[in-house]
Amino acid sequence: MVKITGFTTRDVRFPTSLDKTGSDAMNAAGDYSSAYCIITTDSEHSGHGMTFTIGRGNEIVCAAISLLAPMVVGKDLDELTTDWGKTWRYLVSDSQLRWIGPEKGVIHLALGAVVNALWDLWAKTLGKPVWRIVADMTPEEFVRCIDFRYITDAITPEEAISLLKEVESGKQERIKEAEASQAVPAYTTSAGWLGYSKDKLKVLLDQSVEQGYKHFKLKVGADLEDDKTRLRIAREAIGYDKGNILMVDANQVWSVPEAITWMQELAEFKPWFIEEPTSPDDILGHAAIRKALANTPYGPVGVATGEMCQNRVIFKQLLQANALTVLQPDACRVGGVNEVLAILLLARKFGVPIVPHSGGVGLPEYTQHLSTIDYVVVTGKKSVLEYVDHLHEHFVHPSNVKDGYYATPLEPGYSVEMKAESMDAFEYPGQEGKSWWRSEEAKSIIYGPRVV
Ligand SMILES: [Mg+2]
Repeated sequence: MVKITGFTTRDVRFPTSLDKTGSDAMNAAGDYSSAYCIITTDSEHSGHGMTFTIGRGNEIVCAAISLLAPMVVGKDLDELTTDWGKTWRYLVSDSQLRWIGPEKGVIHLALGAVVNALWDLWAKTLGKPVWRIVADMTPEEFVRCIDFRYITDAITPEEAISLLKEVESGKQERIKEAEASQAVPAYTTSAGWLGYSKDKLKVLLDQSVEQGYKHFKLKVGADLEDDKTRLRIAREAIGYDKGNILMVDANQVWSVPEAITWMQELAEFKPWFIEEPTSPDDILGHAAIRKALANTPYGPVGVATGEMCQNRVIFKQLLQANALTVLQPDACRVGGVNEVLAILLLARKFGVPIVPHSGGVGLPEYTQHLSTIDYVVVTGKKSVLEYVDHLHEHFVHPSNVKDGYYATPLEPGYSVEMKAESMDAFEYPGQEGKSWWRSEEAKSIIYGPRVV
């Protein structure tokens, strides 16, 4: 029996804006950050969960974590995990906190950190990685993790159970594949940040090709002619006929008509999809873009979104509106593992592959579990997962790619526990003499002009 005795939050920020890592058409200079929830217990185990942000405002998410986490303090872990769907509903049902959502925005980012910390704790007490807990569940147990309110018009618990049963027969073989790190092919965005020079782009693309990657993603949307130049460089590096797949990401910069005309101009480079062409809330807009780009002279350009989709309801409607070619759930923007499981089921029901959002600190550590669950338990079909090779050295069990596949995590937990010394070294505002944010160099970010 493990009892939850308390929690702490940590505001950890990496100064990635200094070298433009993560730069795109909307986010010119982000400082990759983690709002942590660390759940402490009367046992040797603690649970680590985090939410990803890109700097300013991370303290607001930490404040929201401090309001939600007390809801689990004093409880037995068993009591929370026995009926997970009910626990999740409980955590979104404080009516006063619900008012500042509901189930979206800062309060939901904070919920993701708390829920994921509980999964991490649970996994550590069971001695399993999170993906393996789910892989060992029966379809009924899987479905019991989910709060079906608001999605039964698209999928019912009974339907979900029968979908899961359909792919149960090959599950044990897929678990073996996962254990051999052959479950989740990786793609890379490391080359494609908008702020990188053309020379750097070419060098990084050539390197990625050599490393065995088959999927490549570039940021677009700041300047059309510049996009054409960069996509030409990319196609020269990866070719058109070598089985390499190009993807582009606009990070919400366009209106719906702009997205359509801009992408008609870029269609000659044959991208698989345009990611985040417009506002993440615009369900019918995404549907209109997908329809308009379905028949370009160069073939179809698909539509992908999800990293800023606030909850399962938006995903449900995107799927119902036939707006998506690819669905990109985020591990912590929605309310943690449980809500992601609901989204995986919705995607399976509508036959849309998932390619989780992983461009951020800690995200590949999380999403490697989610993509493994999708393959082993939900679809039985391999997809791809973004891998960004930044900041992994700060994690106790960093994610890793080998020969084009994610190395499946085998250590107990949800893989986002950060090294204590990294937390101290990058805590914001941090302690004098310990944190980088107290250094002279940090003043250029703290007091410098805001990049808008
Ligand atoms: Mg993106």
